[in-house]
Amino acid sequence: MPLRPCYLTFDDGPHARGTEVVLQVLEERGIQATFYLTAKNLSSDPELQYTLVKRMLDRGHALGNHGEDHDPETDSQYAAASTEEVLSDFQKNRAHFQKLFERHGEVFPGFSSARLPGSGSAKPPFVEMITQKLRQPHVAWTFEFAPNDHPGLAHIDRRNWQKIQGLRATQDELPAMHSIILGHDAHWGGRADLLRMFIDHLRKTMMFQTLGTPPSRNLRAIKRPPQEAPPRSDREPAAQSPRAR
Ligand SMILES: [Zn+2]
Repeated sequence: MPLRPCYLTFDDGPHARGTEVVLQVLEERGIQATFYLTAKNLSSDPELQYTLVKRMLDRGHALGNHGEDHDPETDSQYAAASTEEVLSDFQKNRAHFQKLFERHGEVFPGFSSARLPGSGSAKPPFVEMITQKLRQPHVAWTFEFAPNDHPGLAHIDRRNWQKIQGLRATQDELPAMHSIILGHDAHWGGRADLLRMFIDHLRKTMMFQTLGTPPSRNLRAIKRPPQEAPPRSDREPAAQSPRAR
């Protein structure tokens, strides 16, 4: 039976202990994921922040914009925020990583998609801002997993998921084809074995792809001959193919 494609995503990185474990397990298994980054995380240790993000890129993972400070996140913050503020937050996040890479003599290739924090996917004007102003696909999620004993996250209520002791998910079943699977970097420090079990269980029937158009493809698309290019070819081509690898 052919393997069903799905998309592993990890939010709120980079994280000092968790991201290292996630990257290690993905590298062992030779699979790629999409990391939604927030500049404030690890801003106290820019060297480690740079090292982890560079490693993501070197190993073929995709990067997504998750906003500079992860605000708005709650319903009340969403109600109080303006579209301009949210746009500025995402632009600041991109500028932060551009500067971080510049300081290391490198060029940050940019994000290939974006994800609003918290319940953002339920706020259409902000999602529209992402696609229209940032010219990137907004990527929500359809399946979430976490360790049983991580506090909070009451919505992830199926414990010992698929008989994996210590792991919980948002549904009893395996993720459907093309599911966007959400995890968080911070949950996996010291828990490589549990993450390995989850990924190995999925690998029996699923294969992993990244989200958004990789920056190198964007460049190639922009360099297409004029007769092939759509009108306004300077626009981000990723917005038209949110799930293309
Ligand atoms: Zn988040």
